[in-house]
Amino acid sequence: MEPSNGHVEHICAGTDCPSWCPYCDGGLFYCTVCQGAEGTLTKECPGVSISNDDQELIMHGLDYWDGKWQSRPTGKTFRNDEGSLVDEVARAFAIFVATIRLNEKEAST
Ligand SMILES: [Zn+2]
Ligand SMILES: [Zn+2]
Repeated sequence: MEPSNGHVEHICAGTDCPSWCPYCDGGLFYCTVCQGAEGTLTKECPGVSISNDDQELIMHGLDYWDGKWQSRPTGKTFRNDEGSLVDEVARAFAIFVATIRLNEKEAST
């Protein structure tokens, strides 16, 4: 319960819950439209189902608001540590590409 912004909450029917149901007992918000939950829940619902690859990127900074895909500022710097430098840049690039691809896909529908 709580996030809305266009997300449609999955309401558990309560008929075949596991002994501890994440929805009934845990209060998990799961969107039936974009299939986001917790870390993969965007600021606003994009209105389409998100692929696993894109959910991965959402956890790392891709987000959706004001009607388009955007990348969340990570607040991380790129200096010093060479290992994390490569990782950050690659990740930022993947998010950049995904942002364009998703916005184009949206524009064409
Ligand atoms: Zn949603
Ligand atoms: Zn349940």
